[in-house]
Amino acid sequence: MEFTIQKSKIRIVKGDITEQTTDAIVNAANRSLLGGGGVDGAIHRKGGPKILEECRQMHTGQWSGGLPTGKAVITTGGDLPSKYVIHTVGPVWQGGKQNEARLLAEAYANSLRVAAAKGLRTIAFPSISTGAYGYPLEKAATVALKAVGEALKEQSSIAEVVFVLFSEKALKIYVNKSREFFTSD
Ligand code: ADP
Repeated sequence: MEFTIQKSKIRIVKGDITEQTTDAIVNAANRSLLGGGGVDGAIHRKGGPKILEECRQMHTGQWSGGLPTGKAVITTGGDLPSKYVIHTVGPVWQGGKQNEARLLAEAYANSLRVAAAKGLRTIAFPSISTGAYGYPLEKAATVALKAVGEALKEQSSIAEVVFVLFSEKALKIYVNKSREFFTSD
């Protein structure tokens, strides 16, 4: 499934984000930046120790208290096919009244900002917060697609954003939601 937002493209695919060959892949990290389960674990396992070392340096540097929810930082991609990893922290779902939607939108927008600042043109996202952090998939898909659509209107330097969904269920939800927002090619 593919959509065009001005000069940029949004693609929605099923797959494993660690296999993507985009300029950067986005990691749904936790505040510590020191690795975890889910997509975070998969990225560090495949990317090797270099990514973790760069994260550790950040943890002792600017983000010594941990990376706040909604913010994003960039490291190299280590042994991954993508050159960079953008680490962002999505919100933990707490019922929907703790600014979760705003924070999730910020995680997407800030990741794209970091990518654009580095001159990157193609970025792959997982479905942030919808694993261990418990954000309901349908709600998360709405926020993610809207946030990326809006960011692409401002950041025309980014040529392509790929949503890489890990399950058939997530894929279907993102495809259906995207039809509500965008007109397909
Ligand atoms: P969070 O803590 O932000 O919820 P998780 O990693 O637990 O992050 O889950 C986020 C989403 O990433 C989930 O929908 C999960 O199914 C998906 N996921 C897990 N592993 C991968 C992978 N290798 N590639 C793409 N998506 C993945």
